[in-house]
Amino acid sequence: MMISFLRFIPFFHFHPIFWLVSLFLYFLPAFLARNKPNFTSILILNILAGWTFIGWIIALVWALSSDSQRPVAAPAQPSQPAAGASFFCTTCGQPCPVGARFCSACGAAQPAAQR
Ligand SMILES: [Zn+2]
Repeated sequence: MMISFLRFIPFFHFHPIFWLVSLFLYFLPAFLARNKPNFTSILILNILAGWTFIGWIIALVWALSSDSQRPVAAPAQPSQPAAGASFFCTTCGQPCPVGARFCSACGAAQPAAQR
């Protein structure tokens, strides 16, 4: 009775090839990211959240975008603020706006020469 009923469930009508293709499509984000440095993270996201459509899309976008962050693309610019925009606290080293008499991070009074 139950066995004959199972034949009416679409799940059992699909060909094994269909399941292989589905499996490949499900792990497509991890497959695309197989050579990426963050492959493990993408694979984990793919497995844990891939069954949700959104999670799968995020993993796919992540896999496709992760190789665009090349060192060549980022110009080697030291994070120096523009001259006059801010100075660094003499006590804690945090950047403070020009004209501030006291550090916004630690509250230390700033010497007049830096204002
Ligand atoms: Zn400070």
